[in-house]
Amino acid sequence: MPTDDSCIFCRIVAGQEAASLVYRDDLVTAFMDILPVNTGHLLVVPNQHSTDLAGLEEAAGARMFGVAKMLVGALRRSGVRCEGVNLYLADGRAAGQEVLHVHLHVLPRHAGDGFGLRRTKQLGLAARRELDTIAERVRSALNG
Ligand code: AMP
Ligand code: ZN
Repeated sequence: MPTDDSCIFCRIVAGQEAASLVYRDDLVTAFMDILPVNTGHLLVVPNQHSTDLAGLEEAAGARMFGVAKMLVGALRRSGVRCEGVNLYLADGRAAGQEVLHVHLHVLPRHAGDGFGLRRTKQLGLAARRELDTIAERVRSALNG
């Protein structure tokens, strides 16, 4: 049974939806993205439904990254064009998350593939005082 019947990735994990599986263990499943940015575009998802990173069990998060690392090696050996790789995770709609089940994109890259993160505002060096203030705020929130 899927953890969440209305979730496409839960249904894939449960074998109730077609997917091209690459890897599966007790915590995570990896399969081909159906709308690949480049050939070989993979997704690694936790087997248990979690909408966002904050709610994801620690072990599943660690495994997700470990399996992505392993898949990067496999992609590079596979003959799929893979001159570089981006790992990409959109956490929350504002960050571009469309499927609300945590997933890590493993995205083979090559020169001139036209993909990239776009920024629309000019970047400026931050003042050290401001960086230190924000760092302190985040440090204080670490154990919250
Ligand atoms: P995101 O925008 O980070 O939420 O990415 C969601 C990703 O899931 C997109 O790259 C979609 O192409 C992919 N996707 C959605 N439905 C499926 C599906 N049934 N099988 C494989 N990939 C999917
Ligand atoms: Zn789900």
